[in-house]
Amino acid sequence: MKSYRKELWFNTSLRREFINITPEVNKCLIDSGITEGFVLVNAMHITASVFINDDESGLHQDYENWLEKLAPEKPHSQYHHNTFEDNADAHMKRQIMGREVVVAITDGQLDFGPWEQIFYGEFDGKRRKRVLVKIIGE
Ligand code: ZN
Repeated sequence: MKSYRKELWFNTSLRREFINITPEVNKCLIDSGITEGFVLVNAMHITASVFINDDESGLHQDYENWLEKLAPEKPHSQYHHNTFEDNADAHMKRQIMGREVVVAITDGQLDFGPWEQIFYGEFDGKRRKRVLVKIIGE
């Protein structure tokens, strides 16, 4: 069995952002030389997500609106966590959108369903944060 590990770094200009990281994950897969197995992609921070969905800007705006209804950023004073921080909403948004994804690797390809793409979801950005890519297989 082979294994491969890489960290992808991000520093978004906005507090909240969705980034399609499928090309980077695909590059990791090629570098790994693994053709059958699994790839795990997870956010290494508790205010960011990795998730799979459609790369469609209207949908991403819908996510932003939906998440703001569920866990509005402001007023910061509405959250107990914000006595020493201002990112309680980001923790909750991450919880909803998830920590990680696992994708099967078949014949050297990410074995996606129709329209599936991998996204990094940033909810408390403007600083350097990491995503772990771990691939195991042969
Ligand atoms: Zn916090």
